[in-house]
Amino acid sequence: MSLFKEKYGKLFSSEKFLPNHKKIEIEITTDCNLKCFNCNRSCRQAPSYETVSLGQIKKFVKESLDKNIEWRRINVLGGEPTLHPKLFEILEELKKIKDKTGGEIRLATNGVGEKTKEILTRVPSWVKIANTRKTSVENRFDTYNLAPADDPLLRFADFSKGCIIPSFCGLGLTRYGYYPCGPGAAVDRLFGFDIGRKEIPLPNDNMEKELKVLCKYCGHFKDPSGLQHKFFSTKEEKISKIWKKTYENYQMKRPDLTVY
Ligand code: SF4
Ligand code: SF4
Repeated sequence: MSLFKEKYGKLFSSEKFLPNHKKIEIEITTDCNLKCFNCNRSCRQAPSYETVSLGQIKKFVKESLDKNIEWRRINVLGGEPTLHPKLFEILEELKKIKDKTGGEIRLATNGVGEKTKEILTRVPSWVKIANTRKTSVENRFDTYNLAPADDPLLRFADFSKGCIIPSFCGLGLTRYGYYPCGPGAAVDRLFGFDIGRKEIPLPNDNMEKELKVLCKYCGHFKDPSGLQHKFFSTKEEKISKIWKKTYENYQMKRPDLTVY
């Protein structure tokens, strides 16, 4: 197989990746104590202290219980979620879903710093801790900030196909609402399309309209099946033209998004 076909073959297939409506990632804070290169929440590239409030978590819990949604996994993350001042209240609130329908409550942490380490010792045992134990800002990550829109080969791709991340990790929830995926939510934070849904998408809703907008700027799209990590990952910071401009704009004025 040619290198070109091996690298880009999946992009030209008609395969669609459907969001998994049984899993969700909640970005409770965008603040992070590490700030890695190529962070797919832009915590380094466009730092922010914005958070999901306890009130918004209560709203999410009520909505989930009212609609009898049986989440298989609720992943609490950031940024670095241990930096959220109400982390324990948030976990207790989410437990109401676990108590009713089962499923896993997971806390995804980078494990960095004494404060985070101390907080992790107090996390209740019914929360599964996923600790990536990062030690450096240089990690082998996808080139999130190399936008397909800046790539002549990809500019006109069918972005509604998405990639494997929403299928594998599930929906994303931030203070601005629901998205097909967490990295897509971060695209909206920076570009300001303001397309966060204010209600949990129905199971038959593939959110293609949102994918069409978000995937155009998300570097994960270059490797839709996630199998070509060796080609599309790097430890160095890579930022394409459209992202550079977007980060500059963000420094001057942040997009005004409506909250969940
Ligand atoms: S630890 Fe995670 S959230 Fe924080 S900057 Fe690194 S990749 Fe982003
Ligand atoms: S390419 Fe990015 S925005 Fe699109 S589905 Fe994948 S992770 Fe989400």
